[in-house]
Amino acid sequence: MIVKLEDVWVRYPLSRGGLLSTTYLHAVNGVTLEFEEGKIEGVIGESGSGKSTLGRTALRLIQPYRGKVYWDGVDVTKLPERKLRKMRKDFQLIQQDPYGALDPRLSVYDIVSEGLRVHKLVSSKDEERELVLKTLASVKLTPPEAFAEKKPDELSGGQRQRVAIARALVMRPKFIVADEPVSMLDASTRGQILEILKETREKYGTSMMFITHDIAIAAYISDSISVIYGGTIVERADSDTIVRNPLHPYTAALIQAVPDPNPDKPVKEPNIKGEVEPLLDEPKGCVFYKRCPLAKDICRTERPKLREVGNGHYVACHLV
Ligand code: ADP
Ligand code: MG
Repeated sequence: MIVKLEDVWVRYPLSRGGLLSTTYLHAVNGVTLEFEEGKIEGVIGESGSGKSTLGRTALRLIQPYRGKVYWDGVDVTKLPERKLRKMRKDFQLIQQDPYGALDPRLSVYDIVSEGLRVHKLVSSKDEERELVLKTLASVKLTPPEAFAEKKPDELSGGQRQRVAIARALVMRPKFIVADEPVSMLDASTRGQILEILKETREKYGTSMMFITHDIAIAAYISDSISVIYGGTIVERADSDTIVRNPLHPYTAALIQAVPDPNPDKPVKEPNIKGEVEPLLDEPKGCVFYKRCPLAKDICRTERPKLREVGNGHYVACHLV
């Protein structure tokens, strides 16, 4: 197991009044999830459901207030940054925004090579240059020599995202959190970036958490999918099962809302009302209770456990 999250809880302080009046936004509420070598785990859910918080917690960019995070079997939940530093090269983030993520003052070469220098992964300038150019070529920024000299503002959105991916890949990480890496890109660039990530997994056995709100993309790239709502995994299964046999009412609604590829068919409305609401307390009942078309009394009072209902198929719902 490359990364393991064990009953992880994350909250953000909203107001810092007195000691007794601090209120929190509960973003992740008891998530247990394991990431295996060479596997891509999709994490899907609407905006505000806690995906980015979960990804950043897996990378120990955020510390949970309860639960544990393991890297390669090592409990890193409370390790101070100076002890994490050596391990960080193996655990990389690719962010959504190809514009904000790159320092506009640096050249592509400097951006991609920085981690190599910081972590002393190369022993000479020549070795560094070779590795950077090779990595730029692998993300299809060719000729790499020309792209190396450019600044981010000379690049398109798709090219910037490739630079962000190259910066992560050059470290040969064991685990990558890709946080909506293609959501701001046009369709053809999107396909190319997904291919690069797939190739990386195949070539190096990299493990990934692929975050998206797009179920079609999740199904395309992931081996298995975790559906998250209210900072809670409500369903998890291999990608085919999630798409063909969704059991949780929230997953079913997400699948139903996927537009039909046939443009003449009317767009289906999801069968859930309202939107994601921030949780200001730890959830007592089902996180989806308020929006669920099937909710019963028990759903308000008792939190459903994530239990196995079929081979590797897990659902947290009282009604399944
Ligand atoms: P997603 O990536 O699925 O859109 P996020 O993890 O970004 O979800 O956010 C989950 C919840 O936490 C949301 O209600 C969001 O507003 C809140 N949140 C995220 N970051 C912060 C923060 N730094 N401070 C306070 N609340 C935050
Ligand atoms: Mg997000």
